[in-house]
Amino acid sequence: MQTIIRKVDENCIDEKIMKEAGALLKAGALVAFPTETVYGLGANALDEKAAAKIYAAKGRPSDNPLIVHIADMESLKLITEEIPEAAYQLADKFWPGPLTMVLKKSDAVPYGTTGGLDTVAVRMPSHPIALEMIRYGGGYIAAPSANTSGRPSPTLASHVLDDMNGIIPMILDGGAVGIGIESTIVDLTEGVPTILRPGFITKEMLEEVVGEVQIDKGLSADSKTPPKAPGMKYRHYAPKADLMIVEGAREAVIEKINALVQENESKGVCTGIIGTEETISRYPSGIVKSMGTRRDELSISSHLYSILREFDESDAEIIYSESFSEGAMGSAIMNRLLKAAGHKIMKV
Ligand code: AMP
Ligand code: MG
Repeated sequence: MQTIIRKVDENCIDEKIMKEAGALLKAGALVAFPTETVYGLGANALDEKAAAKIYAAKGRPSDNPLIVHIADMESLKLITEEIPEAAYQLADKFWPGPLTMVLKKSDAVPYGTTGGLDTVAVRMPSHPIALEMIRYGGGYIAAPSANTSGRPSPTLASHVLDDMNGIIPMILDGGAVGIGIESTIVDLTEGVPTILRPGFITKEMLEEVVGEVQIDKGLSADSKTPPKAPGMKYRHYAPKADLMIVEGAREAVIEKINALVQENESKGVCTGIIGTEETISRYPSGIVKSMGTRRDELSISSHLYSILREFDESDAEIIYSESFSEGAMGSAIMNRLLKAAGHKIMKV
């Protein structure tokens, strides 16, 4: 299959292209498109056969359910059995945007989309191209990240092409995404709203709207119970090199990383470093990459996955990364980075 790439300008969306992509979705084919979080791999969520193509294209385990993307509140009613007041309040505040809510599903949603669960995860994204894609594609688009399972999520159309070339018919190229890590997932199906995956929308932001919110205990590395979002149990985003996070005061971290790099280089081991604009000049050797600036959290989150992909193309065998746990998005960024590192963290 030939993969066609169509450039789309979010400020001036070409309706002809959207019609073409929408027709593919309606016919049960896959189309990748940008959202404000990462690039999504879209299929008609109400068509079990179309959803099955997503699993095949990604090599995604079949128990890992898909998020259904909608473009208006009216659409929520068809796919859910029951909409609690909290869902309306959260939608009012955060939709369209990077928040996914888990609700009880209606019969309209096939089990092939929900991985056999009686609940459905729903999001209304804010990216103008994503919203148009949903409308043209029939209103209900399942769209997990458009990467091969186990690879970093795509934040550029070229990342999608790297993983999906020859496998899907079309990619809409809307440029770099803004947030760069996946949506916050909150479960509203039992008692206290529970965060199943941290993201741009933080616990504090949710609590301002609905009161007490808890974090799924299954998310911590030492938990005995599995995470409630089936996808969170898989070791995603593992780079080819061994990744280790070095955490502590800035000067101590720089000193430690430089010492480790020297030790590796004396043994002929090619070493990578993930720093920031504030620190990269302090690392004299190794393959040094900047994640962004600590003055702007979005610059960090939006570069995380592309840096991991870049290291996969390099000769680095070991990578040391600074830690990014501070700030509002700290827990979301560290959740992804710790997974990529297989939870290897060194405190200095
Ligand atoms: P992705 O779309 O690749 O970012 O992954 C979607 C995430 O949402 C995975 O971690 C899924 O396990 C999770 N998810 C989707 N539907 C549900 C659901 N009904 N209940 C719990 N988690 C879900
Ligand atoms: Mg994913």
